[in-house]
Amino acid sequence: MARICIACVLALSIAFAAGTGAFQPVENSLRVAGFEFSKKPASGQIHVVEMDAASLEAIQQWPWSRTHYAAVVAQLDAAGVRSIGFDVDFSSASNAAADKELAEALSQANAPIVLPTFAQSESFRSERMLDVLPIAPLREHTQMGSVSIVPDPDGFVRRMPLGTITSGTPRPSLSAYFAGKAGIVGESFPIDFAIDAGSVPRHSFIDIERGDFNPAQFRGKDVLIGATAVEMGDRYAVPRYGVIPGVIVQALATETLIAGQPVYGSWELPLLLAALFAAVIFGSPTYLNSVLRMAGFAVTMVALSHYSYTAFHTWFDIVPALTLIITSAIMRNVLLGRRQYLKSQRRDRETGLPNAIALRAHIDRAHPEYVVAAMLDEFDTLKAVLSAEDLPVLLRRLTDRLKLAADKQLVCRTDDRMLAWSTPSQLFEVEEQLASLRALMLSPIEIGGRRFDVPLTFGVADARHDRAIANAAHAANAAHRAGDKWQLHEADRSQHLEQQVSLMGELDESLRDGHVKVYYQPKLDLKSGQITKTEALVRWDHPQKGMLPPDSFIPLAEESGRIEDLTIFVLQQAIADMEIWATKGMSIGTAVNVSARLLTSRSFVDRALALIDAMKVPVEQLLFEVTESAELADWDASIETLQKLRARGIAISMDDYGTGQSTLSYLKALPLSELKIDRSFVQHAHIDRGDAMLVRSTVQLAHELGLKVVAEGVEDAECLAFLKTIDCDYAQGYFVARPMVANELVAMVTDPARIAA
Ligand code: C2E
Ligand code: CA
Ligand code: CA
Repeated sequence: MARICIACVLALSIAFAAGTGAFQPVENSLRVAGFEFSKKPASGQIHVVEMDAASLEAIQQWPWSRTHYAAVVAQLDAAGVRSIGFDVDFSSASNAAADKELAEALSQANAPIVLPTFAQSESFRSERMLDVLPIAPLREHTQMGSVSIVPDPDGFVRRMPLGTITSGTPRPSLSAYFAGKAGIVGESFPIDFAIDAGSVPRHSFIDIERGDFNPAQFRGKDVLIGATAVEMGDRYAVPRYGVIPGVIVQALATETLIAGQPVYGSWELPLLLAALFAAVIFGSPTYLNSVLRMAGFAVTMVALSHYSYTAFHTWFDIVPALTLIITSAIMRNVLLGRRQYLKSQRRDRETGLPNAIALRAHIDRAHPEYVVAAMLDEFDTLKAVLSAEDLPVLLRRLTDRLKLAADKQLVCRTDDRMLAWSTPSQLFEVEEQLASLRALMLSPIEIGGRRFDVPLTFGVADARHDRAIANAAHAANAAHRAGDKWQLHEADRSQHLEQQVSLMGELDESLRDGHVKVYYQPKLDLKSGQITKTEALVRWDHPQKGMLPPDSFIPLAEESGRIEDLTIFVLQQAIADMEIWATKGMSIGTAVNVSARLLTSRSFVDRALALIDAMKVPVEQLLFEVTESAELADWDASIETLQKLRARGIAISMDDYGTGQSTLSYLKALPLSELKIDRSFVQHAHIDRGDAMLVRSTVQLAHELGLKVVAEGVEDAECLAFLKTIDCDYAQGYFVARPMVANELVAMVTDPARIAA
């Protein structure tokens, strides 16, 4: 679309220039070249009898006595010419006897004879034109044709009128008369100077008068009589030939008309076509391509114009069109050059990776949330041990690896030791990505058989800030100094904190107003193929921000002391839903996630137990999922709480097993009834041998400890099949079902066809 617009604007400005006639000189030169290219002989129908130097010399006295003209008319008529035209001024009387003799010769001739009329300035100074006619006695037996020639403003004769008005009467031009064309007054036609002027048969006047010629040459021909001797003036500047006699101009004009009357075509039509071509040229991907397209279109334009000249006698002006084609190619090249330059500006020289300028441009375009910078902690060492060729290779490999975890973002080298990218993710997701990146970086990068550890420290900054890239780098440096794995840029931290504080303020309100909901994700019993248990997962349907995932607010709720109210809410809801299911005859166990820090909270335990006391379904249906974490800090107190709950009949599950640092003694000390293997091990267990081994041995271990095993994060059928073969008890994951509202769960459990088993 943009290309077509540029082509149109360009075409319009060229059209404007064409309207002022600016292209005419070039057009004229191009046309001369065209004449040269398509030169052709005259038809031979028009003969010129020239009053040449030889005749002047023979006749001596000037003006000639009109008896000479009478003699020539008689000779030509006797030779059987078809018509005779004079380009000789007969407008004033001469010797009466001679005038009479000519009048008689004219009246006796069989061939029609045309005498000239023309317009002439009244006097040297006057602008008024006078119509010049032959004297009356000569007019009687003849026709009259106009021989007026109108040069272009530059003095060159390029066209001939078809007819003019002289003495109030419209008359055809001499050439129109001979070519048998209707002479339309005011219209003119271009003279075709491709016709070879030298091929028009010419005869000396004096030879004809003396009868010194072969009459057969003239039979049926049209003869023009006029002056060619330099002394007699009557000469005009024309294209291709320079200055030639008026009678030759008349002969060429007549020959032009005989071949078919040419018309001037417009310049607009070719320009319109060229605008289309220009749009195509603007799409050229390379320099060479644009030049080739330009050449192709220019040749096409010239060929088309030549074709219309030969086939339709239509003469188009193509210089505006050619100008458009050439200009658009030039513009395209400038644009390509600029693009190339910009591209080179956006590349890191050493590695060819995009640089900070590229990242900045990307940020401006994509409006991401954060910029992440990864700093190579040991860049100086790497630089010292790696060759100049190997360092870029390492950086590119590292970039590829970062792209994997950074969700295919544009990873740029913003500084020697800094790789950076931007991300649309929220901060809690960025944190997760960085965790998996660190895991990914545990395996070294191999260059030429050598393996290099590339430890990274990350910095994160708010992408909306102008200096986001520098801020992220700054944060990475700060993290490195502080011995942290990553840091949020200082200035962004307080802002982020503010946002979180206000978000937490809204949580209380949402809990009251019913914007917090509980979803259930089924756990499939792999032995029976039935759904007998679910996990309650909290959702915050935020009035402005939409559905928020728990990871974005659970940690906040924990820090801000709201996790107790939230968990009690979930527990209450889970119990209420289990009671509803029970009235439908469904006995479904439900797991509630309990943060480790709640285990040391007296009030939480009391409130939870109060709810459990009031439960109308067996307490054995309730399960608490606790994550193994360093937060079981007050170890004794936590164990005490768990034992209290266990004693009350509540089942306890160890969540996210495998991600923490649980030891066998740890497992034995906790009053567990279930183990949930973390999804990071389960997801690829059917394809990764290491994961498979881990999952298989965990199942065995758990069974030996008398625990049931749940595998979470089951995303495909192959994974589910693998879990069955290793005797795992339950499977949970998107392949079985996504978390859903309570009613949907009822529908699923009561319709066995919907369970993937
Ligand atoms: P979790 O306890 O490990 O819960 C499982 C999470 O994995 C859920 O995310 C669930 O939607 C997701 N998941 C289930 N199947 C698949 C799968 O096949 N593939 C993948 N990639 N993910 C799967 P969700 O609901 O976003 O919960 C995230 C975390 O938030 C939970 O992890 C849990 O630690 C916490 N959470 C959720 N609800 C509560 C709650 O009521 N109280 C507390 N304290 N924490 C909760
Ligand atoms: Ca859980
Ligand atoms: Ca889990």
